[in-house]
Amino acid sequence: MIISFDLDDTLIPGIRRFPTEPGNLWHRLFSKEKIRAGTIRLMKVLRQNDYNVCVYTTSYRSPFYVRKLFFSYGITIDRVINKRIHDKVLGARGGQISKYPPAFDIDIHVDDAPGVGIEGERHHFNTIIIAENDPDWEATILNRLGLSENVVKQH
Ligand SMILES: [Mg+2]
Repeated sequence: MIISFDLDDTLIPGIRRFPTEPGNLWHRLFSKEKIRAGTIRLMKVLRQNDYNVCVYTTSYRSPFYVRKLFFSYGITIDRVINKRIHDKVLGARGGQISKYPPAFDIDIHVDDAPGVGIEGERHHFNTIIIAENDPDWEATILNRLGLSENVVKQH
């Protein structure tokens, strides 16, 4: 299974404010941007359940930058789709839809924007929309995926 995550206001605070993961030295040297508290644990559970993890953002952050940002927290991102890549792959259609995960073989996309959920219904792709102020956002995602933090596979 391939899952993708939005960045702004989903994993990185922007207009929405939420607690962030404590930064380490590597992270502080690399970037001022911080990721949402709970992301490290969530990604670990997804990995242990054989998910491929992607970032799908409508920003122009470079894939190299995004990979490094997450890697500074010990998180590996398999693929980064930014606005430039979205426009290139979708061509003329790219301007009509903010995100189209099936074009990148993504099975389910996580976002804060209700509009992306509506696009998902209209264009037949799966989304998990995190409601504003959902304190259990990781549990919301894991429940939707049929995973529980307690059934992490032992290797
Ligand atoms: Mg967003």
